[in-house]
Amino acid sequence: MPTVTSEKKRPAARSAGRPAPELIFGDLWEYDPSPETADPRLKARYDHFIGGRFTAPASGKYFDSINPANEAKLAELAHGSAADVDAAYAAARKAFDTTWGRMPGRERAKYIYRIARLLQDRAREFAVAETMDGGKAIKESRDFDVPMAAAHFFYHAGWADKLDYVAPGRKVAPLGVVGQVIPWNFPLLMLAWKLAPALAMGNTVVIKPAETTSITALKLAEIFQDAGLPPGVVNIVTGFGDTGAAIMTHPVAAKVAFTGSTEVGKIIMRSLAGTDKKMTLELGGKAANIVFDDAPIDQAVEGIVNGIFFNQGHVCCAGSRLLVHEPVAAEVLAKLKNRVKVLRIGDPLDKNTDIGAINSKEQLGTIERLVATGVKEGATMFQPACKLPSKGYYFRPTIFSGVSMSHRIAREEIFGPVLSVLTFRTLEEAVEKANNTAYGLSAGVWTDKGSRILKMSTELKAGVVWANTYNKFDPASPFGGYKESGFGREGGRQGLLDYCKLA
Ligand code: ADP
Repeated sequence: MPTVTSEKKRPAARSAGRPAPELIFGDLWEYDPSPETADPRLKARYDHFIGGRFTAPASGKYFDSINPANEAKLAELAHGSAADVDAAYAAARKAFDTTWGRMPGRERAKYIYRIARLLQDRAREFAVAETMDGGKAIKESRDFDVPMAAAHFFYHAGWADKLDYVAPGRKVAPLGVVGQVIPWNFPLLMLAWKLAPALAMGNTVVIKPAETTSITALKLAEIFQDAGLPPGVVNIVTGFGDTGAAIMTHPVAAKVAFTGSTEVGKIIMRSLAGTDKKMTLELGGKAANIVFDDAPIDQAVEGIVNGIFFNQGHVCCAGSRLLVHEPVAAEVLAKLKNRVKVLRIGDPLDKNTDIGAINSKEQLGTIERLVATGVKEGATMFQPACKLPSKGYYFRPTIFSGVSMSHRIAREEIFGPVLSVLTFRTLEEAVEKANNTAYGLSAGVWTDKGSRILKMSTELKAGVVWANTYNKFDPASPFGGYKESGFGREGGRQGLLDYCKLA
């Protein structure tokens, strides 16, 4: 498969810097297909999970869940109405009052630990289901999403009998019933991020997965049944924005937690103004990955690729802006293009695939529209000339150079495999450009100097700053944003504090 279009040779780097390497012209080797074959054990139809049982929607309405890799129907999902949300909250309230809220933490820990173990037992099956439902490459769902989801349950099982240490000198108590709504980029992992701390603390939950990616949540409900989790501790209602709104505004919810777009986050904040509900929001991002001239360039290139092309760029903390020090700008860009040319795009179930399918037709349209504005506003676009599957939703990894801060592609969250490259001359300029955004979720710094890392991590207004790496997660490490990226933290002791009352 040819990977390179005819391209003008790049000008040599500035005299102060290193010369840019030649671009490699050549073909990407074809591999034989290597599909992951584990059975995802999908059902033709999924009902809500309320009070420990799969429950048909009150309206009798279902909608289709589509595999974005080939546009085939995967299953039917229940369309949740206000009546379903009421039933879910009633079950959660009862479970809080009668079992979960009264159970000692050491007993809750056993259930959470069991959930983690059962998820590990069925890891390959869950990875295949996640990939078919959401479009992400199997190597990501297999090596990242599912193991990290299990790790979150393990970590929080470990906290459940040590809650006295969450806030030393204070007593902690659960809030009651918590309403949660999550997006489609990490369906199972976001579910684990939301459920594990809430359950460890003794809360019960009503949660809605995203409409395009609900299947692994309902598969996890099978695990809740197998683990003997008391009925009503976790209730899953599927549906669209109206169902999500009913969960967020329900009078029984003591707290709501939302991960999704800044736009919907603002709607939720407005709808809860004047109520006493606690709230945490994890919203969009427009992270800067900042490369200084003393950085290990090859590792940085790998980190940049990981930061934006990983998971098709469907990552709120994606390193979607590359800020590169002028002396190494030409070198970094040339190496980046070489790397992108050998990324494999296609069938997400193939173990060799690096970039899978875009999650939905709507999201593909959003990416295409924003990329068109980049071209129109005068940035230089680079895409490898790889062949895309004829069916399904795919988008080539895209690099824009010659981008300025006024371009829409430098300011708006694209949520796709699209990188905007800007340059800087001084540390102050890098900080200024990195912080010049409405968001503040994450950032990356690549440099050999420890002192520069410390200075940058203090000055960057981002919840997470990765140094000489990118997109690294750990259940013990709190994650969350500043500014329009939201508030509250998930993971670590800080994440637990968002799910308790302090006395
Ligand atoms: P994205 O743009 O990433 O799809 P959204 O914010 O639209 O993010 O969706 C994230 C989650 O929020 C999904 O589960 C979606 O169904 C839900 N949602 C959409 N609109 C609303 C709303 N008004 N209130 C509550 N949840 C909503």
